[in-house]
Amino acid sequence: MKHIIIGNGPAGVVAAETLRRLQPQAEIALIGDEAEPPYARMAIPYLLQGDIDEHGTHLRKTHDHFTTHGIHLIQGRVSCIDSVVKQIQFASGERLHYDKLLIATGSHPLRPAIPGIDLANVHTCWTLDDARAIAAKAQPGSRVVQLGAGFIGCIILEALASRGVKLTVVEMGDRMVPRMMTAKAGAMIKRWVESKGVAVHVNTAISAIEQDGDALCVKLGAGGTALQADLVICAAGVRPNVDFLAGSGVEIGQGIRVDRGMRTSVPDIYAAGDVTEAPGFHSGLPQLNAIQPNAADQGRIAAINMAGGNAELQGSLAINVLDTLGLISTSFGHWQGKGDGVELVDEANFRYLSLQFEDDVLIGATSIGWTDHVGALRGLIQTRTRLGAWKARLMADPTQFMAAYLGAAQKAA
Ligand SMILES: Cc1cc2nc3c(=O)[nH]c(=O)nc-3n(C[C@H](O)[C@H](O)[C@H](O)COP(=O)(O)OP(=O)(O)OC[C@H]3O[C@@H](n4cnc5c(N)ncnc54)[C@H](O)[C@@H]3O)c2cc1C
Repeated sequence: MKHIIIGNGPAGVVAAETLRRLQPQAEIALIGDEAEPPYARMAIPYLLQGDIDEHGTHLRKTHDHFTTHGIHLIQGRVSCIDSVVKQIQFASGERLHYDKLLIATGSHPLRPAIPGIDLANVHTCWTLDDARAIAAKAQPGSRVVQLGAGFIGCIILEALASRGVKLTVVEMGDRMVPRMMTAKAGAMIKRWVESKGVAVHVNTAISAIEQDGDALCVKLGAGGTALQADLVICAAGVRPNVDFLAGSGVEIGQGIRVDRGMRTSVPDIYAAGDVTEAPGFHSGLPQLNAIQPNAADQGRIAAINMAGGNAELQGSLAINVLDTLGLISTSFGHWQGKGDGVELVDEANFRYLSLQFEDDVLIGATSIGWTDHVGALRGLIQTRTRLGAWKARLMADPTQFMAAYLGAAQKAA
């Protein structure tokens, strides 16, 4: 049996190791197109903060890990797939045959179509190469403008602030982390970040970036207010890496469409990680969910099925935990809700809680400033626990979520 995995991030690595465990005799090739050992992008902020060195970003720490496990690492860019003859083709023209193929090619950061976005010193923060370039420029006192304050933008913001730069964040949405936080919560995070010395502009687009001697001149909005910067970081969202699949027959929405077993529309081709649009936990509809635990879980499920087993995804559930300059926020599940919910806002103490229900089941939650027991919120959502009388109690006092978790779970047991 010949397994090929395209993409050596968390989804690909977990899949390769799972396959090896299940099929000791199989041939396994793991392909990546970066000149690095398999690494975790989510470790890049810790690298920028100086908490770890590059080796600390590597997914497996011993240099012979993959050889010892009989996993053949290949560096190269796959340019297309011929699913009729079951071959992949590299940009070099070389071809390889597969019996089972896993696509785990992840996603790439977007660069909005702004004049000047391709200037030197305008960087995305996605690869180890990006991190090296950013570390060289983001020195204490450097002026840095960051485009975008989404989930990954906020993580990068934290790393940049720790380097002592003068940071300005520009977000087109009406609040920080707009795709993870309610309006009140996003505004609260903004106020917190500003209190720590970071300038934040929301409802504002960057209209152009111009070279101004050694510096960059960043134009804001139609009015053209300008900021001087030594470095611009672009954190404008991500898109799945699917372009090379044209003509392969693999069904694609925004990402690769998969069923709960991570099977694509083409026999013997599977997909896992950021590149997929997997059935959502609540709706069952195709949903992007670009976070690492999701990638690892999907890689494991795909591999079990590639080895002839039978594993199914529970459903893709959004689970986000964010530390923004010391303020912890979370959002779980269908946090936007369907209209039946409760919100507690404590502006003075930077505490916030929103619970969203469907009938008497918790389907989503957002929190700020809660560090104890927030896992109970996720637990209630994931287990689809019927809250019964606890729902009314939570509507009256949402802080009782831990008591509800224990009470409802005991009733169910
Ligand atoms: C700065 C930053 C911080 C983050 N923080 C968090 C966090 O706190 N929590 C969290 O859950 N997630 C976080 N993420 C997101 C997380 O890194 C991704 O969800 C995760 O990496 C997805 O894993 P993956 O294996 O699907 O894809 P990737 O890790 O992107 O790996 C895909 C691999 O495929 C390779 N590839 C792509 N196309 C081809 C091709 N045609 N041929 C050959 N190889 C190819 C790529 O080069 C890459 O090596 C963060 C990401 C970044 C950038």
